[in-house]
Amino acid sequence: MEAYLDNSATTRCTEAVRDVVIHTMMDDFGNPSSKHMKGVEAERYLRDARETIAKTLKVKEKEIYFTSGATESNNWAIIGAAMANRRAGMHLITTAVEHAAVLMPMHYLEEQGFRVTYLPVDQKGHISLTDLEQAICDDTILVSIMYVNNEIGAIEPVAEAGKLIKSKNPGILFHVDAVQAYGKMTVHPKKLGIDLLSVSAHKIHGPKGIGFLYINEKSRIHPLILGGGQQKGMRSGTDNVPGACGLAMAAKEAYEHLGESTEHLLALKKRMMDGLEALNRSLMGQPRIVIHSEPGERSAPHIVSAAFPGVRSEVLLHALEDKGIYVSAGSACSSNKKLPVSTVLKELHLKPELLESTLRFSFCRYTTEAEIDYCLSALAELLPVLSRYARH
Ligand code: PLP
Repeated sequence: MEAYLDNSATTRCTEAVRDVVIHTMMDDFGNPSSKHMKGVEAERYLRDARETIAKTLKVKEKEIYFTSGATESNNWAIIGAAMANRRAGMHLITTAVEHAAVLMPMHYLEEQGFRVTYLPVDQKGHISLTDLEQAICDDTILVSIMYVNNEIGAIEPVAEAGKLIKSKNPGILFHVDAVQAYGKMTVHPKKLGIDLLSVSAHKIHGPKGIGFLYINEKSRIHPLILGGGQQKGMRSGTDNVPGACGLAMAAKEAYEHLGESTEHLLALKKRMMDGLEALNRSLMGQPRIVIHSEPGERSAPHIVSAAFPGVRSEVLLHALEDKGIYVSAGSACSSNKKLPVSTVLKELHLKPELLESTLRFSFCRYTTEAEIDYCLSALAELLPVLSRYARH
């Protein structure tokens, strides 16, 4: 049996996504910039894709810009907003637990003379609104806060943050990295006070290498990719029609099934967390498994992060892999990178033995209870054996 429990890393495309991608590569393969019929037809595909996505967010079609994925969307939102608004101020705010695709552009801007405040998080990964309020200065131009943390699933108080930012200064742009939230929960930027929102297709059963940035029509942001002037000159490069259609199909399917998927994911998460607790009881005398993710509304339904003290995450990851179970190591700082892979776990101030032994299990709407049970039984078999070899 196989259990793919790494859906926050990437997901398998659905058949409908595959079909529309192939169709727009093999049959209706035109370039929207061409003036002939094939181009007009491709332009229509692009327009329809934009319309489908805009509907899921309750925004205007012209506010959706296709990108090569969320890394590009985040870079564009942050650097583009900073460049366009530098006369208004040189201060930005983000959180200490963002994805590298937010943290690295922030570091880059620091090198260019901007000041960045990194908000700390509590033990469960949430920022404090008081900290946010105190961080906002007269020259703050952008706040960037992720919706759902990709490592432990914490849901940040985005709606409250949006309200707070706009009440302090409506001119401050609010960017949200919604990669782990879009398709899993309702995301309505206008209601949440969000001006810029990043999304990636491959996390929601769409193709890799495509995503979008929502830009509120009133927001000022510079383009970063210059060239042939596609997408109103805001993001040049031949339009990725198959990618856009695949993304739109994935979005449509995700939101059509949202209610059932959420219920299913919550049930899977509970099964996994209950199973880990039961394991804790059965592994008497062994170090206790520590679950970082919370149940309830402040945590995403598709992510369970847990530490297995005494067993290094890479060792457990590969032992599970031998049984056809695929998960992510939550920590594993890589020595040759400036940025540790898990800044997030470090920010939770976990003890080293928890940092070194964390795994992330992430689900999708196609994950089955049988996969969860298979993973739990593999853990029950492996943990007593592997922890025997652990350094104590
Ligand atoms: N932001 C978050 C929260 C993510 O989880 C990821 C992917 O892991 C990214 C950004 C980067 O997305 P992409 O793979 O589309 O570049």
